[in-house]
This record gives sequence, C-alpha cells and structure tokens, in this order.
Amino acid sequence: MFQLKDFEKCVFELSKLPGIGRKTATRLALFLLKMDKKDVLALTKSIEALKDKIRFCKICGSLTDEEICSICKDATRDKTTICVVEEAKDVILIENSGNYNGLYHVLGGRISPLDGITPDVLSFDKLISRIEEGNIKEIIIATNPDVDGETTAYYLKKILSDYSMLKITRIATGLAVGSHLEYSDEFAILKALENRREI
Ligand SMILES: [Zn+2]
Repeated sequence: MFQLKDFEKCVFELSKLPGIGRKTATRLALFLLKMDKKDVLALTKSIEALKDKIRFCKICGSLTDEEICSICKDATRDKTTICVVEEAKDVILIENSGNYNGLYHVLGGRISPLDGITPDVLSFDKLISRIEEGNIKEIIIATNPDVDGETTAYYLKKILSDYSMLKITRIATGLAVGSHLEYSDEFAILKALENRREI
C-alpha cells in the first residue's frame, strides 16, 4: 500500500481548516510541496505569530487571546468588585496570589507628570463607564505603593467620589512602601488585598 506519512499528516492538518475538505487539502499539500521553502516557512511563521499574538480584553484591559478575557467572562466571579491595577501583568500577579474573585480594570500605566503620563492617556473613562453601566459596589485601588502609584490612587479617589454608592478601598501597604506588586511574593499580595482599607 502506498503511504506517505508526513504528506498524510499535512493533509490531515489542512483539512481541519473551515471549507477545506480532504480533496482540497491534498491539492494544497501538493502545492506546498512545490513552493519555495522560504515561502512555506514564511507562511508557517506568520501563523505562529498570529497565534502568539495576545490581545487586551475589550472590557478590562487584561491580556487575552480572545476579545473578552476569561475573567470577565467567568460567571462565577463577583461582578460587583473591581480591582484597579496599573498594568496587565499585575492581574496575573494578583490572580496567582489565589484568593481574589472579583473583576479587574487595567489602567495601562500610572499618572506620572514627569514622564508626561497624564490621566487622559490612561483608561479612567472606561472605568467610569463600567461603573455607570454595572452594579459595582467596591473599587479596590491596587496601584503600586510608590509616588506615581499614590498619585494615581489619589486621582482615582477624587473622580470616584461622585459615586456615593461605591466603597473605595486601597490595598494595604503590607507591601512595604516603594515595593512594587511585581517584587512582592504571593502571600504579601494576598495580605495586601485582605487588609485593604476604605479611603
Ligand atoms: Zn477582561
């Protein structure tokens, strides 16, 4: 019996694509065989890059490979609490600490006048829209406990003061002053969240 294992494998993989039956997949595989190797490699590389491309969640700004991240989609999470962080990586850190079950909002940085980062380039507007749309009861401010992080926290408190139904809390600085979430261990992050205080 005539067998070409690698060829068959390629036909099998191609036939997983929508609208590609076995016949078309065979034709494509034969075509790939005839193509220049560099063109085939450019194709496989571009597919890999496509898959590797992570996006930002449309709602919260966390990293996702879909339009909406798994946290925003998760029906079991507490949709009344939003933890506001500076960067998408902070979401991963807090998630890894293991005990937070609310939602997130990624600002995309922190207010830093010296670096020319003013509130309008961060996603405060989006946060306000989420508060106005949803049934949000608590905002946890988890910006870093350094000068810029505190400036950002202060600004947040100010713009959120119009929403009297909101409880606004700040993570405890069990995280030593000046220490970023990034350099804190999971236990410290967990404690900082647990010991948050109303501001
Ligand atoms: Zn999200």
